Amino acid sequence: MIVKEGRSVFKGVATGRIFVYRKAQTAVSREQVTDTAAELERYENAKRKALDQLKGLYEKALRDVGEEEAMIFDVHQMLLDDPDYNDSIHSIIENDRMNAEYAVFMTGEQLAAMFLNMDNEYMRGRAADVKDISERVMSILNGAQTDPEAMPEPVIVLAEDLAPSETVQFDKSKILAIVTQKGSANSHTAILARTMNIPSLVMTDIEPDLAYQGRRAVVDGFAGLLYIDPDEETMARMIEKKGGADAKRALLQEMKGKESVTKGGKHIHLYSNIGSVEDVDAVLENDSEGIGLFRSEFLYLGCDDYPDEELQFEAYRTVLSRMGGRKVIIRTLDIGADKQIDYFNLPKEENPALGFRAIHICLTREDVFRTQLRALLRASVYGALAIMFPMIISVKEVVRIRRLVEEVRLELERENIRVGEFELGIMIETPAAALISDQLAPLVDFFSIGSNDLTQYTLAIDRQNPSLDDFFDPHHEAVLRLIQTTCENAHRHGAWCGICGELGADMEMTAKFIQMGIDELSVSPGCTLELRKRIREC
Ligand code: PEP
Ligand code: MG
Repeated sequence: MIVKEGRSVFKGVATGRIFVYRKAQTAVSREQVTDTAAELERYENAKRKALDQLKGLYEKALRDVGEEEAMIFDVHQMLLDDPDYNDSIHSIIENDRMNAEYAVFMTGEQLAAMFLNMDNEYMRGRAADVKDISERVMSILNGAQTDPEAMPEPVIVLAEDLAPSETVQFDKSKILAIVTQKGSANSHTAILARTMNIPSLVMTDIEPDLAYQGRRAVVDGFAGLLYIDPDEETMARMIEKKGGADAKRALLQEMKGKESVTKGGKHIHLYSNIGSVEDVDAVLENDSEGIGLFRSEFLYLGCDDYPDEELQFEAYRTVLSRMGGRKVIIRTLDIGADKQIDYFNLPKEENPALGFRAIHICLTREDVFRTQLRALLRASVYGALAIMFPMIISVKEVVRIRRLVEEVRLELERENIRVGEFELGIMIETPAAALISDQLAPLVDFFSIGSNDLTQYTLAIDRQNPSLDDFFDPHHEAVLRLIQTTCENAHRHGAWCGICGELGADMEMTAKFIQMGIDELSVSPGCTLELRKRIREC
């Protein structure tokens, strides 16, 4: 039995087999080969695997988003089987005696260049598809494994590190736990694991070696331990621990249908944080009163290109309809820092935590922002919508945002598209916003405190940097004073004030937040019932 230590970011016990997640190498090797027949076979095997993956993706997309969106994976299968594409690869391997990766890369580049030179717009669009299928085959050739769904049963994902754009692609029903060698407890990947309600370890003392592939393991998210090939005694202990956790969860079921009210009679709005439309299942299952933070950027992270107005409208409408009149706070796009999206083509930054991010991207790329606002305003007729803007630092920004929202509303009205009622709020997650919250409050309906970033920017401690995890202290007096100031200023000007950062779920702080006058707490769905119990004890 092997025992490895990590830092737990979500409690719970999971047992299952390990899936070693490995990213593709970005550099393409160029090598001469002597055994061209063997190299051709390597290519054919990789191609078969890629076709299988594409078939699976087609079926998944067909189920989840419909035929039109799924078609692209059908087109990719046809391109991968195209005789010209395959002849070119075979010729580079057989005649030039080059390795398969290089043959696929060169063919992809040449065909893409040819497509780009065509007059027909549809054919020009195929250039990206050829590159896409070539990258898929190359990543299979160089041993990347990024598809846990390919495993026959749900798995424990073991990775060096995971970007939010990677975690968001996982089919949640196929993941039992996540263990990473790197990563930080405050990163968005850790937050996603919490939303998925699965045990998760970061900074684990383990290399994601393929030797672990398929081996039985247990993740103990209470103790921060990973057991590989657990012995009988450990297995029995873990099953007992899991039983205890399940029993505790079962007991919490009695909190369903109860009010989130303190002994003194103060009602706290207890909402949930989500990252996708599918997360609404967990929200309803845990009897949450609303959604306090829908991180809309995860919708963008899950797409290969800018999600259009229709796709976004459908997502927002679905969430609002499914919540049946309960409040849904949707945060506009918050990308940048650790949430990078290739198709935005943002330049590399020296200091991403202080970089081009969130509202500053939206106010620079108004086209992208307006598309999202149109989708949101159109969806407003389907439920109790509130729109929230991230990373605000000035009054000027809020004034400009309000003007843009008004312009979009008028534009939709001119098009005879109905717009419903909605609230407007901002995130307080920079010290600047907290300190001028007296000036910001009259401009909004509510504040939602983003304690993750508020801690990062108040303490000048990068939330992504694992070596600073011990210094990342959301209980720091400076952070708490900013929260108190924000809450007081909100109330002074008739706005309400909630917390949607991870600190909202910290039960040690619940009584203090209630004393401060916090009106709402928004936490990952799995924490809802326990927090309701805590509120009722206060
Ligand atoms: C926060 O900063 O606390 C927050 C809720 O936003 P995010 O974690 O997505 O940056
Ligand atoms: Mg934030």
